Amino acid sequence: MPQKLGQHFLTNASVLERIAVAVCPAGEDLAIEIGPGRGALTEKLLRRAARVVAIEIDATLVEHLRIRFAGEPRLEIVHADVLATDLAQWGRAPIAGNLPYYITSPILAKAVRLDVPRIVFLIQKEVAERLIAQPGHREYGYLTLQTALFAGTRLLFEVKPGSFRPPPQVDSAVVLLTPHTRDLGVGDREGFLRFLSQCFRQKRKTLRNNLAGIYGKEVIDPWPEAGLRAEQIALEQFAEMYQRLPKPGTDGTFSSFPKRGTDGTVSSVSRSFER
Ligand code: SAM
Repeated sequence: MPQKLGQHFLTNASVLERIAVAVCPAGEDLAIEIGPGRGALTEKLLRRAARVVAIEIDATLVEHLRIRFAGEPRLEIVHADVLATDLAQWGRAPIAGNLPYYITSPILAKAVRLDVPRIVFLIQKEVAERLIAQPGHREYGYLTLQTALFAGTRLLFEVKPGSFRPPPQVDSAVVLLTPHTRDLGVGDREGFLRFLSQCFRQKRKTLRNNLAGIYGKEVIDPWPEAGLRAEQIALEQFAEMYQRLPKPGTDGTFSSFPKRGTDGTVSSVSRSFER
C-alpha cells in the first residue's frame, strides 16, 4: 500500500462506532465519507445513514470496495481526488473521514466552507490542538482562525496509534466541526482571510512589521494593536481591525493617503490593496 496516500486503516471497532455515531447521531438520509480505504468506517456509516457517498483516490482500494460492497446499492463509490471533487453536489449531508494526514489542511479548508450540518474528522492530534487553540498559545495561528471563521470546533476524543494498521507515528484525535454563517461583520470572509494571512506572514513579528508595507505605516501605526504579534489577538479583534481599514476602490486599490511626489508636490497614492 502506498504510505504516501496516508493509508493508516482504522481497525479499532469502538473508535469506528464512536465516529459513526458522531457523524449520524440520529440517522441521516445521506453521509459523505472522504477516503473510505477498505471500508471499515463505511460499513458503520451504512448502518446509520440511508445512503453513503464515499470518495477514494486509490484505484486498488476502489476495486476492493466495489467487491466488498457489491450487494449494497445504498453505497456510491466515487473514484476521485477529494480536493478536485465538488462536495456540495450531493446536497446538505454530514461529512466524515479518517483523513489522509498529508492533505488535512486543504481538506479542512474545503469542508468548513460547505453548508453541511456537521463534519467529523479523525486527524493528527497536533492539528486538532491547532484548531481549538486560544490566543497566546503556541498552536494558535492562521489555521485556528480560518476554521473558527467558518465553523465551531470540538475535540471529541483522542486515538492512539495502536488503533490503526499500520500504526502512524503520531497521536490522533477526532474533531467535530459545525459550520456556521456568522461573519463577525466582516462581510467578505475570503477578503478577511487574506488580511489574516498577512497578519501571520511572519509569526514572530509585530502587526506593524507585517502590515505597514501593505496598508501604509500611516494606517497601521495609530492602531493600539500595532506593537502586538498576531498570535496574541482573538478572532473578534481581528474582525474589528479589518473593519477599520480604509475601503479599496472599485479597482482593488485605494487612494486615501497623501504622498509627496518626486517633484515635491503632495498627491494621493494608489496602493494595491489586497482585501
Ligand atoms: N477510512 C479508512 C479507515 O479508516 O480505515 C482509510 C483511512 S486512510 C487514513 C486515508 C484514505 O484516504 C486512504 O484510503 C487513501 O487512499 C485515501 N486518500 C488519500 N488521498 C486522497 C484524496 N486526495 N482523495 C480521496 N481519498 C484519498
